[in-house]
Order: sequence, then C-alpha cells, then structure tokens
Amino acid sequence: MPTTVHAYAAPSATEDLIPTTIERRDVGPDDVLIDIKFAGICHSDIHTVRGDWGPASYPLAPGHEIAGIVTEVGSNVSKHAVGDRIGVGCMVNSCGECENCAAGEEQYCLKGNTGTYGAVDRDGTITQGGYSTHVVVTEDFVVRIPEGIELDVAAPLLCAGITTYSPLRHWGAGPGKKVAVVGLGGLGHMAVKIAHAMGAEVTVLSQSLKKQEDGLRLGADHYFATSDENTFTDLAKSFDLIINTVSASIDISAYLGLLSLDGALVNVGAPAEPLPVNAFALIGGRRSFAGSMIGGIRETQEMLDFCAEHKLGSEVEVIPANKINEAYERVLASDVRYRFVIDTATLS
Ligand code: NAP
Ligand code: ZN
Repeated sequence: MPTTVHAYAAPSATEDLIPTTIERRDVGPDDVLIDIKFAGICHSDIHTVRGDWGPASYPLAPGHEIAGIVTEVGSNVSKHAVGDRIGVGCMVNSCGECENCAAGEEQYCLKGNTGTYGAVDRDGTITQGGYSTHVVVTEDFVVRIPEGIELDVAAPLLCAGITTYSPLRHWGAGPGKKVAVVGLGGLGHMAVKIAHAMGAEVTVLSQSLKKQEDGLRLGADHYFATSDENTFTDLAKSFDLIINTVSASIDISAYLGLLSLDGALVNVGAPAEPLPVNAFALIGGRRSFAGSMIGGIRETQEMLDFCAEHKLGSEVEVIPANKINEAYERVLASDVRYRFVIDTATLS
C-alpha cells in the first residue's frame, strides 16, 4: 500500500502552489525511505511548474535539492543505513546499462534519466519531488552528506552545487585559470565558492553592483556590472572559462568576446528562449560554446566530499512552506541571497 504524505504542489501552470498530499510507493528491496528535512528551491522548479520548458503534469510537487535522514531500507540495500544523513538531487533513476550510465554519467542516460519530479517513473507513475515530508528512492541515486555540512546548507548542493562543480572540473578550473561566473543567484554563488576553492581567479559578472560585497566575501577576486558597457571592452579576451548561470536569454556573443584564445563559455542556465550566437564571436578566438547538465552520482558524491573538505555550503534563507510562492516571486526578481530552502517540518 502506498503511503500518503504531506506536500506542496502546483495545481496548474498559472496557480500558486498549495498544501496537499501525495502518494509514496512502498519501500522495495533496493529502496530507501527518506525523512526529508530540507528542500531547496531551484529556478528549474519555477521554469517547470510554469510550463517554460513545455507542458508539465499537474498537480506537481517540485523539489530536487533534497536533504534528509534514512528511516527505512529495503532488504537488498547495502550503501545506506537507517539514520544516515543523505541527499537526493535531480534524478532518481536511469537505465543503468547504456554507455553513459556505465561511465557514471547517468544524467546523460541514452534512454533518458528519470527526473526527481514530473517524470514517468519505472512503475508508470509520475515522480513527485522534495517539497514533501518523505520520499522513496532507489539506493543508487542517494548520496551521503558528510559530517560537517548541516542539512539546510547541504540541500542546494544537490543541484546548484553539482551543476557548477561538474563543468568547473570538466573544463579544468584551478590555479592559473581565470573563471567568470555570470549571474549571482543559486547556481552562481556556488560556482563562485567552488571555483575559488579549486584555486581559480574568479570574477562575477552580475547585472549590477548591488551584490558586490557578497560576491567578494563568497570568494570572488573581481566583480563587474554587465549593465556597464565598459565591462565588455575592459574585460575583452580575458577569461579561460565562463560559466553562464542566467535563467533568461542573454547576448551570448557579447560574453564570448570576453574569452581568451581557446576559452569556453559553458551554459548551465536553461532559459525558455533560444540563445543566438554570432559565428564570428566563436571563430575569432577558436572559442567554444558548450553546455552542461547537473552531474553523475559518483561526481555528486565527489562534490559533497569536496565541499566538506573545503567547508563549503550554500548561503541559505530557510523558509516555512507557506512562503514558497513569495520565494518564487523573489527568485524571479533576482532577489535571492542565495537559495531559499524549505523547512519541511512546516508541511504537515
Ligand atoms: P537564480 O537563483 O534565479 O539565479 C539566476 C541569476 O541570473 C540571477 O540571480 C541574476 O543574477 C541573473 N539573471 C536573472 N535574470 C537575468 C536577466 N534577465 N539578465 C541577466 N541576468 C539575469 O536561478 P538558479 O536556480 O541559479 O538557476 C539558473 C538557471 O540554471 C535556471 O535557468 C535553471 O533552470 C538552470 N539550471 C540548470 C541546471 C543544469 O543542469 N544545467 C541545473 C539547475 C538549474 P544577478 O542578479 O547577479 O545578475
Ligand atoms: Zn535545480
């Protein structure tokens, strides 16, 4: 018999999220039952429930930055035990057999990974996310939160952390590399912290200088406003790597002009609208325009261990469930410092 649990869900693309209940499956042999303590609010939750990326299935409880405690394990479970502090990110399953899954890049599963919410699960039901009190997840998609990172500041690492860690690693951020981060929101502030911890020279490119003090405190060496046209001339051809975290369409060609020879601009932002590129902005410096989506399970664990070692967590504003809709409006207004995290004890 499935279990009924408290949740917050969107009834449609145009209505506020409301308190409700959802069903969680029985704990199968390979599953763990998680008592969710905190769930981060990612801009992707807003894109999804509002239909920016296409039609969604409703009612929809979003949330893919989940931190909690294991309260029950199936008979085959060996990686996790009751009482463990664990996290779940943007995916809860994949085929496990294709070459990308075999390489530990489950997010790029050739058959498509199973998203934590709004996706068709293996049993045909639609997955429901972390804005709820409990979730049942197959053990392979559950990661360990190391001691030393509190669960509230750990939750955003499960999406914002890994989504920025993965391209920073892949494109070699480290000592001697100049990295720019576009947009100082949920993903952006983690990109700054992680790139700094990796030893890179970090620059924030934000719409204004309003958050400059924060950016420098988080680990940036330099901070510029993109509303100032001089920024694009002063910084021309100066970065090895640019991570674009902006949730809206921006003038990518202008940012490509900030890359040095062989530099790469990696898009992690996922706006609804296309991102047009002027070919000359690429060919004029053998530049790359690339993209990156979250990270595999092994790399997500590596990121959490890296964050524990460097004493990194997210900067969070913990909110009760009845503030979720207000938090959405603030995220849309770029008024977030730097991740809203729901205290799920307020759901029941
Ligand atoms: P967020 O907290 O809202 O941060 C986005 C930041 O972008 C804002 O804080 C703002 O920074 C800047 N920005 C917003 N609108 C802008 C505009 N019109 N022009 C210029 N800059 C603007 O969002 P998030 O949770 O970090 O997510 C960012 C994007 O990444 C979303 O599209 C999300 O769906 C996507 N995402 C992708 C992945 C992936 O796997 N690739 C994973 C998670 C999220 P400033 O105020 O500093 O300018
Ligand atoms: Zn996310």
